[in-house]
Amino acid sequence: PPALEFRDVWFGYRPAQPVLRGVSFEVPRRGHVALIGPSGAGKSTIFALAARFYDPGGGEVLVGGVAAGAVSRARHRAGIGLVEQECPILDGTLRDNLVYAAPHAGDDEIRRVVDITNLAGLVARLPHGLDTRVGEHGRELSGGERQRMAIARALLPRPRLLLLDEPTSHLDLESELALHQALDEVARRCALLVIAHRFTTVRAAAQVIVLDQGRIVASGGHEELMKTS
Ligand code: ADP
Ligand code: ADP
Repeated sequence: PPALEFRDVWFGYRPAQPVLRGVSFEVPRRGHVALIGPSGAGKSTIFALAARFYDPGGGEVLVGGVAAGAVSRARHRAGIGLVEQECPILDGTLRDNLVYAAPHAGDDEIRRVVDITNLAGLVARLPHGLDTRVGEHGRELSGGERQRMAIARALLPRPRLLLLDEPTSHLDLESELALHQALDEVARRCALLVIAHRFTTVRAAAQVIVLDQGRIVASGGHEELMKTS
């Protein structure tokens, strides 16, 4: 089954004001799908429904072929890693920051996500490696490092689907490239759904879905979309 499936999903925050109007799409296992569209189109709402912060008013949301309503919210969310635009940093070590959603993760697991997200170089440069304090009273991390740390953190519980909200906003070019490399690695291991504005983020995705006013108005490979627009 696909990692994520929306089947004719309708949703509104208020009665008679639908924000999603019959949205259907799939993110295949190991798929890399980008969701683009103007501000207010409903992109974040799709994330909120995928993560089950809300239930759809109509239609179905399925994760790994299982209807969201058929399992507890906790069970549903266990399969999903969510990386929001603001990456909160705990005032503790880099290790504390990585493991807080997966407190029993061992060193091998931590090394795995550090490698996938291109953070190995950073860890090597930190005076105490993973045990260096970061955050308010420790070393500052750059925007790109924070983003990749947030992705590593989300990957530790081994989700089947990672949702990323505007991962490349506020990044300089070098950080953006490092992030893209990381996302390519991530895509080999789990499905990705990325909210994107920038062209470069979209180019890395195998499929692009264009949302406008709560409807999917176009979707396809990057090249395909360029031809038709
Ligand atoms: P996007 O992420 O594409 O910018 P959103 O999903 O955030 O779009 O918003 C879609 C529509 O839903 C907008 O009209 C927005 O004002 C409205 N909306 C978003 N979140 C809420 C909320 N919590 N309560 C009420 N309306 C909301
Ligand atoms: P449950 O029904 O399992 O108790 P909720 O859906 O009420 O869970 O919320 C679980 C967690 O998700 C809470 O910490 C809540 O603050 C957070 N949450 C709920 N809605 C949103 C949202 N739209 N964006 C971000 N976090 C949210």
